[in-house]
Amino acid sequence: MKLCAIVLCLVLSTEKSWSYPSSRFEEAAFEKYLEKARAVLDRVPLIDGHNDFPYSLRRYKDNQVGNLDINDLTTSQPWASSSSSHTDINRLRQGKVGAQFWSAWVSCTTQYKDAILKTWEQIDVIHRMVDANPDTFEFVTSAQGIEDAFSQGKIGSLVGVEGGHSIGSSLAVLRMMYDMGARYMTMTHSCATPWGDNSQLDDPGNVPIHDGLTPFGKTVVAEMNRLGMLIDLSHVSRKTMRDALETSTAPVIFSHSSAYALCNDTRNVPDDILQLVAQNGGVVMVNFFVSYISCGLTATVQQVADHIEHISNVAGVDHVGIGSDFNGVARTPEGLKDVSEYPNLFAELLARGWAEIDLEKVAGLNLLRVFRGAEAVRDQMVADGVKPFDEWIPQTDLPAESLPCSTGQSMLHTYFLETLMSTD
Ligand SMILES: [Zn+2]
Repeated sequence: MKLCAIVLCLVLSTEKSWSYPSSRFEEAAFEKYLEKARAVLDRVPLIDGHNDFPYSLRRYKDNQVGNLDINDLTTSQPWASSSSSHTDINRLRQGKVGAQFWSAWVSCTTQYKDAILKTWEQIDVIHRMVDANPDTFEFVTSAQGIEDAFSQGKIGSLVGVEGGHSIGSSLAVLRMMYDMGARYMTMTHSCATPWGDNSQLDDPGNVPIHDGLTPFGKTVVAEMNRLGMLIDLSHVSRKTMRDALETSTAPVIFSHSSAYALCNDTRNVPDDILQLVAQNGGVVMVNFFVSYISCGLTATVQQVADHIEHISNVAGVDHVGIGSDFNGVARTPEGLKDVSEYPNLFAELLARGWAEIDLEKVAGLNLLRVFRGAEAVRDQMVADGVKPFDEWIPQTDLPAESLPCSTGQSMLHTYFLETLMSTD
């Protein structure tokens, strides 16, 4: 009995030393887990919820990427010396990425100005990047599309619009973005919209503007349900999370957020919301940004694994995924420095005793289930004869700063002006 206990102790202590390596001895042990991790990612697509590479194309190339070779960006400038250049085709392949939601993000400074135009430009550059690299990427818009691309060895490429400011408070624009291929919208970025509050409003000293979603904000949720567009609650305030979870009939996502209990940044998801996500059937895709992992200036792949374990413990293993935020952030964890290193994270979880079936869920099966759930809600709403929602945001909901760039929504008003100005 005593011998058994000693052996058990030895096994446990040896197990413990096999996490992400810090010495050559540990490296040899870790390699076994890496092999297994790679095999898991050969079986199921690793689906990452958020990568800001498209914004790098604007930042470094003004979206003039017709002649840009993105196979290896480790040696060409300005990519090579950028601390937020984590993505190219060679490294995506090394990292065994199976599908990627590419972020169509434009800054909150564009709100009430040219947000819609610039978002369309970002969606355009994603389409062009995919079309220019047909051996690597395939543009997909459905859960089945992700699986089909993966079975052909392609990285299924999807569009996520990051920030409700990108639709200019117009359901018509939302629908057109869906038609351009957008399959999620983050309800806010780091600014409130006229219909929803953002996460910074939960920071000490700040006060909510709308106390969550306005009635029009809830209509945006309903229209996204009708379209089959995923509702992304990264970047929103806690009350917006609650309102959206209450309103949505489809499972929701957090495309790139980690656990608030381990790092108390308002960009992360608190435990009470994690429990609601479990009830909703949604998924929280863990962000790798060190500021959201350790709340400090450095972090490790083990700490990212801690966030995955925490979300799994609170919400269940069916409700956690991966949303790296690569290329959007400057500081990435040791062991997860760029897109080539995802297998380290899965190896770390294997070393902790995780079952391969659970790693498959975290890698992509959870997101596929959520996506199919949203598609099923869409199909049911079509079958029930639900028509596109066509109300406008009330003029009284719009702030004064939005007015200089608007001619108003009432056609009667516009018609009156046109009649006055007509010289015929
Ligand atoms: Zn973000």
